[in-house]
Amino acid sequence: MPALIPENLHKKVADRLAFCQDLGIAPFYRDRRAEPVFQQEQLAQSVDSVKHSAQIPHEESDLPKTLRKSDPQKQAASAPAKMAPLPLPAAPAPSLFDAADKIADDNLLKVREDLGECTRCKLHKHRHTIVFGDGNPKAELVFVGEGPGADEDAQGLPFVGRAGKLLTQMIEAMGLQRKDVYICNVVKCRPPENRTPEEDEVSTCSPYLLRQLDVISPKVIVCLGAVAAKTLLKTNRGISYFRGQWLDFRSSKLMATYHPAYLLRNPNAKPEVWKDLQKVMAVLGLQVKKGKPA
Ligand code: URA
Repeated sequence: MPALIPENLHKKVADRLAFCQDLGIAPFYRDRRAEPVFQQEQLAQSVDSVKHSAQIPHEESDLPKTLRKSDPQKQAASAPAKMAPLPLPAAPAPSLFDAADKIADDNLLKVREDLGECTRCKLHKHRHTIVFGDGNPKAELVFVGEGPGADEDAQGLPFVGRAGKLLTQMIEAMGLQRKDVYICNVVKCRPPENRTPEEDEVSTCSPYLLRQLDVISPKVIVCLGAVAAKTLLKTNRGISYFRGQWLDFRSSKLMATYHPAYLLRNPNAKPEVWKDLQKVMAVLGLQVKKGKPA
């Protein structure tokens, strides 16, 4: 790999860091073990795009050996000789990047007002209605879909078509009602012919989704399908890589599962989704029923 900075500058920086560490001004790194999976991915990709890139499930067995929490002695042994053994914070503070995204005193009304009659991306040209989101603004559980379809575009409400009916059944099988949860999408306008939203559309619209999630701050976010999961986890991995696993998203737990529209085409995948939802129920303290939903 070519040197990123000239050798003399590298030495100067190294000397300065060592000097500061001797003074006790350390550490100069962030503890990335507890960071959201997408940040681990970005780091891995930028440093080493081969082996440990992309989604790192939160199981310890999948962590690189040197970073295993259960191996503190080895960690200490592999630390640079000059490093004083500093206690690691129990729960690292959010990084500046995470904190900077959050808007103080935000609420769903403000988010909706800021979205306005949006024309920021090309999706506005064909839409009838913006589908902002619907449900309990204090929900412990938020479902995030991909984008409105024809029925949603007509009614201005998320998940009211065929896939929406299945989602409603899934919610009710969990012992909840739609009004107990919050439902929204990555993009708020219907993509023509129900195509997958394009990258520029997702990046234009997702800040509003992030604000919705920050405001609601649910215990659990369920990503319905790959678009939602990829957007929130900032990954290009296919959904099967992390489906059914608990991941972290800001202060929420995140579970990605198959989209109800996929289940309509592939009903054989329903038991897998039900397993995922049972995990969600357990975390929310809902009574987990064995076997298939009624
Ligand atoms: N599919 C989605 O992803 N969202 C909806 O609102 C409806 C269908």
